[in-house]
Amino acid sequence: MPTRGHLSGNARKFAFMYIAERDGNRCLLCPKDAPITALELEHVDNNTNNNHPTNLRLLCRRHNLEMRKLSIVDKRKLYLKHGRRIMRER
Ligand SMILES: [Zn+2]
Repeated sequence: MPTRGHLSGNARKFAFMYIAERDGNRCLLCPKDAPITALELEHVDNNTNNNHPTNLRLLCRRHNLEMRKLSIVDKRKLYLKHGRRIMRER
């Protein structure tokens, strides 16, 4: 199985399942009634070695690409505004 990033295929799958369960299996930033799209894991601190759940967010491809243009500070602000469910973990 090919690997991507710094996680093996299985570890990546496990991380994805865990975050999907936590975040409700949908993009954190899309409106609730948005159509379900393919989801990706985003690293809040831009460090793909940091796969701690607090550093991972479930996003659609469009939002994942948008996040890459933002600074870490701006991302955190955005997540505080939109990522209500994440707060419980802090
Ligand atoms: Zn989205």
